[in-house]
Amino acid sequence: MTVQSPILENDLTDKVLAWLAPRADEMEALLHRLVDIDSNSFDKAGTDAVGEAIADLLQADGIAVRRIRKDKFGDVFRAEVPGQKANSYALLLGHRDTVFAKGTVTTRGYSRQGDLAFGPGVADMKGGLVANIFALRAINAVGGLPFPVVALFTSDEEIGSPSGRAEIEAAAKGARAVFNSEPGRVSGNVVTGRKGGASFHIKVTGRAAHSGVNHEAGASAIEALARKIVRLHALTDYATGIATNVGVIKGGNTHNTVAPWAEAELDLRFITLEQRAQIVPEIEKIVHAKDVPGTSAEIEPVALFLPLEEKHSKDLFAAYRKAAEKVGFAVDGEFTGGCADSGFTAALGVPTLCGLGPVGGKAHTDDEFCRLDTLLPRTQAMAATICALA
Ligand SMILES: [Zn+2]
Repeated sequence: MTVQSPILENDLTDKVLAWLAPRADEMEALLHRLVDIDSNSFDKAGTDAVGEAIADLLQADGIAVRRIRKDKFGDVFRAEVPGQKANSYALLLGHRDTVFAKGTVTTRGYSRQGDLAFGPGVADMKGGLVANIFALRAINAVGGLPFPVVALFTSDEEIGSPSGRAEIEAAAKGARAVFNSEPGRVSGNVVTGRKGGASFHIKVTGRAAHSGVNHEAGASAIEALARKIVRLHALTDYATGIATNVGVIKGGNTHNTVAPWAEAELDLRFITLEQRAQIVPEIEKIVHAKDVPGTSAEIEPVALFLPLEEKHSKDLFAAYRKAAEKVGFAVDGEFTGGCADSGFTAALGVPTLCGLGPVGGKAHTDDEFCRLDTLLPRTQAMAATICALA
């Protein structure tokens, strides 16, 4: 049996690639359709409408789609192409939400200039959704692979996946590999490593006093916070990839009142889970230190993205590179400081590759673009990599 499997795999790969080959225009038409549905992370009706459009399309091909209801954010849609055998599945990830406000499409919908497509979320990541949908359809059209292929379409990645994370982690636990179709890098590379990111809210309480009459009776929360910020920023170490940034500060009442309160928003970036385990207690120590007598401080975690460590993408990337070569393009892996859902699956030890969607850039701006000439080949390369897991 093992002797036959390479032949089976090649045959399946060829069939999948051939099914996709004439469908570039169809893919672009779907991209156009999905971009023209407003779907900000907080717009449940919008992200659900994108989910329904995807579900209709997949169900028309006979692909089963399960809808997991969510109250606050958009529902999670889970599609599955069954395997020829019972086996652990390949998992495709994609988020349907964008950072753009409801109504953006009316003034700035999908448009195209040559090979570039524009519009809200065109690269991040409606282009990637199209790639996932067509990879799934192609694998379904050839009768499936020896293992199931599951795709999860979530709705709140841009705000840290508050409702998507649990579904993603639950799905990742049964997966042999995870493919996340965030946009490909402008260089054409895929993403083999991502920093993890955590944000915190810091609150310092002091004691108010008149700064002229009884200055000595006060305890300045602003001074305490300022001292903490200097020490927090000193944790940054470019050599190891740790970065701390207090990006927002607030505090105090008037210029002649010793500040009774001060607040800050802290962002932390790290490369490994081990670094996070080390640095978070240091941050807490700095926050709780009594820099100014009479003040006290608390720290609350706000959001967390785990890192995609390169050890979890290495083998999958080697397979992807081979698949890309078969499709006809050269590709490298790239590390980025930006966070994504792929960190959650990698942190569970599941092989994960990211940035597999069409190449795009200027995400989260009005100039966001997607390179349409990469839509088909990158979908083919991802589908071929999935076939190669057989
Ligand atoms: Zn994204």
